[in-house]
Amino acid sequence: MDKNWKIETLAVQAGYEPKDGESRILPLVQSTTYKYDDVQSVADLFDLKKSGFFYSRLANPTVDCFEKKIAAMEKGVMAVALSSGQAANAYSLLNIAKCGDHVLALSSLYGGTVSLFTNTLKKAGIEITFVTPDAGYDEVISAIRPNTKAVFVESLANPALVVADFELYAKAAHANGIPLIVDNTFPTPVLCNPFDFGADIVTHSTTKYIDGHATSVGGIVVEKGDFDWAASGKFPEFTEPDESYHGVVYTRDFAAAPFSVKLRVQLVRDYGIPQAPLNAFLSHLGCETLPLRIERHSENALEVAKFLKNHPNVSWVNYPGLPESPEYAKVQKYFRNGMASGVLCFGVKGGKAAGERAMNALKLANIVVHVADVRTGVLHPASMTHRQLSDSELIAAGVSPDLIRLSVGIENVEDIKADLDQALRA
Ligand SMILES: *Cc1c(COP(=O)(O)O)cnc(C)c1O
Repeated sequence: MDKNWKIETLAVQAGYEPKDGESRILPLVQSTTYKYDDVQSVADLFDLKKSGFFYSRLANPTVDCFEKKIAAMEKGVMAVALSSGQAANAYSLLNIAKCGDHVLALSSLYGGTVSLFTNTLKKAGIEITFVTPDAGYDEVISAIRPNTKAVFVESLANPALVVADFELYAKAAHANGIPLIVDNTFPTPVLCNPFDFGADIVTHSTTKYIDGHATSVGGIVVEKGDFDWAASGKFPEFTEPDESYHGVVYTRDFAAAPFSVKLRVQLVRDYGIPQAPLNAFLSHLGCETLPLRIERHSENALEVAKFLKNHPNVSWVNYPGLPESPEYAKVQKYFRNGMASGVLCFGVKGGKAAGERAMNALKLANIVVHVADVRTGVLHPASMTHRQLSDSELIAAGVSPDLIRLSVGIENVEDIKADLDQALRA
């Protein structure tokens, strides 16, 4: 692999590199276990003296290649694949913050992440507070506390479709010696590499565009590799001996990727939640066409957004790729070729009830909870994915009661528009 390859080439070529006579296609190693010639080789693996496979909870050859492909596409040093995007986001924080710590997050996050942060991580003693996306630098800085261990944002919020102003959050985080974590699910590494704009850790729900065909739930955490965990003195778990691993010091013994190694040998070892080999196989396959698909998703979504904007029965449209969108300038600055991915939101004249009628009348577009696969789908977040959020959390997440989220697929755009038109007139 050549690190300077462009994203389309990395998507196809990175990850799996067969040796002479080996399968050209990534093999699916559906095995929990590996065989050794002597006891010492297993002992060395357990002591982290040598890398290799010993048990698929911790690492598996198929999952390993998927991790390498995503790490290459994100321009990171290492990635750890997990069983879901939820697991990826939970581990990205649990690897850094513990009971008594604080994390600052953007309020416009995916509903599942808000729930994880405000309910489950809170029970673990990690306090997470939120700033709104319009908060300026001073407001962000003043929300960071002495015990704040990370700033967490979504590059393109699901479903508020707010583009994170990476440079602002990176500057605020780094001024306090803490990392910026970016959930990059919606743009994918094809449209945006948050590491180029100051992020230190990237997460994905690979369930979405990366798999792209709605076959596999999965998540991944990627490390950029140059964050200084020692400088602030805030991360002793990285810089002091880990007695659960014979005194390993992650920043000393695994200086290239201390975050990823720590995450794997502590969190994945103890809690599990690894990605299944079959899901990694399918998601790795999905990556190969990701650049092509994202291009089509973006083109179709822009066309559909323009169509809806001019439709007599539509009251508003939110798509960051529309020039009149307040997000447009950030799309131009941070996203490749100004493409804005395949998800848009709109409201139907007549509000929630009229919106539901229109959704029920769709024929090509299905009502699905999923988003970001090849098939066009619609969702009403307030009554579906975000129904556990309170009214104020809904507003903070950018979800109005009439909001319909449309995940524009890669079908012919004329067919998508015709279906929307007949449903909106129904
Ligand atoms: C779907 C999603 C998640 C959660 O991922 P799962 O794979 O469903 O667990 C996290 N973040 C964003 C932005 C998502 O869209």
